[in-house]
Amino acid sequence: MDGKADLHLHTTFSDGALSPSELLERARQAGLTAISITDHDHTGGLDEAADLAGKNGIVVVPGVELSTIVGEADVHILGYFINHRDSRLQEYLELFRKERRKRAERIVEKLNGMHIPLTLAAVLRRAGAGSVGRPHIATALVEEGLIGTYQEAFSKYIGFGKPAYEKKYLISPREAIALVAAAGGLSFLAHPSTFINEEVLQEIIDAGIDGIEVVHPSHSPELVAHYSAIVSEYFLLASGGSDFHGGKRNDRESFGKYFISTEYVDMMRRRLR
Ligand code: AMP
Ligand code: ZN
Ligand code: FE
Ligand code: FE
Repeated sequence: MDGKADLHLHTTFSDGALSPSELLERARQAGLTAISITDHDHTGGLDEAADLAGKNGIVVVPGVELSTIVGEADVHILGYFINHRDSRLQEYLELFRKERRKRAERIVEKLNGMHIPLTLAAVLRRAGAGSVGRPHIATALVEEGLIGTYQEAFSKYIGFGKPAYEKKYLISPREAIALVAAAGGLSFLAHPSTFINEEVLQEIIDAGIDGIEVVHPSHSPELVAHYSAIVSEYFLLASGGSDFHGGKRNDRESFGKYFISTEYVDMMRRRLR
């Protein structure tokens, strides 16, 4: 029997507001039957989720979200069904997290140079044990009373091209795809609409991506149809989810609304056999 799968969710192990167990409880209430936890550069939530999943009857697909670069574009790649104990994968994730920390430090320095007295400690406190990202900086700026709104942090300071923007340490899509494959997983191009033109999309398909995230809050019904057609044309797999983070982002309403049939999860499993 098919159910609802949301294969793009963040927890406190990156820039999400809920712990894996809180997220699973929320998923159960929303009637989801499968989820994937896809934290940025971190798989710390997967063990906690796997332990609980059996209890509340939800299938948890092990996942991760990696950041890659094509030209100037920040291209996100989701890895599903990874063996998160793979040592090479973990070595890379540790490197990415270390570099994220250095980048947070550079952003804070830039903000200080703009007379915004944010401290690195205030940012790191919000990241906790998880990988630090710009959402932690935006949240810290709001909660420390330094700016008015979460969105303002991006539109004025830390968004792409803004004065306190800093690049992440980024690998190529090909490297990310290889890393995921070496850990036994399948790679998916995340939310392609956000930054990707047809040329970049073709490049990523040529690099050997296994699938495309077709369903995402940023995709209109027309875009969902568009990416579904590309999936069919290139014999790729399809994925989808809410990219839910919670907290200051105000995406509460999207929880439970963006999903794909669990039949797509079965197709992924068959592709791996
Ligand atoms: P990072 O991984 O540190 O680069 O942070 C990326 C996160 O910041 C993503 O989850 C985005 O949703 C969020 N983000 C990036 N740009 C914006 C923006 N202009 N407005 C709101 N959120 C953004
Ligand atoms: Zn995120
Ligand atoms: Fe993303
Ligand atoms: Fe995401």
